[in-house]
Amino acid sequence: MNPAQATDMICLEFSGVTYRYGSVDALSNVSFSVESGDFFAVMGPNGSGKTTLVRLALGLTTPTFGEVKLFGVPASSFDRWDLVGYVPQTMDGIHSQFPATVREIVTHGLYKGFDPFGFWRRGRNEIVDRSLKIVGIEDLAGRRISAVSVGQQQRALIARSLVRQPKLLILDEPEAGVDAVGQEQLYSVLRRLNTEQGITVLMVSHDIGAVLRQAKTVACINRTVVFHGPAHRMTEKELSDLYGLPMDMLLHDELHEHR
Ligand code: ADP
Ligand code: MG
Repeated sequence: MNPAQATDMICLEFSGVTYRYGSVDALSNVSFSVESGDFFAVMGPNGSGKTTLVRLALGLTTPTFGEVKLFGVPASSFDRWDLVGYVPQTMDGIHSQFPATVREIVTHGLYKGFDPFGFWRRGRNEIVDRSLKIVGIEDLAGRRISAVSVGQQQRALIARSLVRQPKLLILDEPEAGVDAVGQEQLYSVLRRLNTEQGITVLMVSHDIGAVLRQAKTVACINRTVVFHGPAHRMTEKELSDLYGLPMDMLLHDELHEHR
């Protein structure tokens, strides 16, 4: 099967996945699947295993038990990583201080190994321009990455993954450290990628309000999956059970800022 040709299928599947750090289960018997075209949010309190789940989905680590499949292929033998875009939580300090422009960071997404003439190949600049435009930072292309806001850095990282034309975009708390206006811009970009470009989005988020507004499907995890279904079917009780707090506090206090 050629994953690139598969459109109407499951992008990501966890089957009975347990992951242990030493003797501690970070995830226990987690099963869910993300269908092509979905905007899938993973929610859960700190330490609930969200980043571990992302690392497993990206094949950066392998399950202690169970199996992770990408586009129907076990993650351990999956080799079409160009189909999977990844946006980390924030740029790490070294990366954000690196004396590169926004355009250079985005162009870096095209890098596939040493190719002395690759940079000048036809089409490469166009796709970088298009990606900058899709995330709405084309005016910042020549600015130093260290001189733009955290929200704009996050959009540059999204653009960097878009140049490879992924079918699945995975984001680990992309809103962390981004101000309210920046967050709305970020979510609006993700919504457009999902609805207009048909990119499947898997977003880990602390922002319950945004998840309820943006996501089509939600998985709430606390080491194991405690809710999985359409976002509108999630009840106040499920949210309160997950976080151990009343719903109104969850939506209005500072709990969902990243710690
Ligand atoms: P989240 O992203 O939801 O905050 P993580 O996946 O980072 O959760 O962590 C899940 C659990 O695994 C936590 O209890 C955390 O302390 C533990 N953990 C994470 N990374 C490591 C590690 N490298 N070594 C040992 N334990 C870890
Ligand atoms: Mg995390």
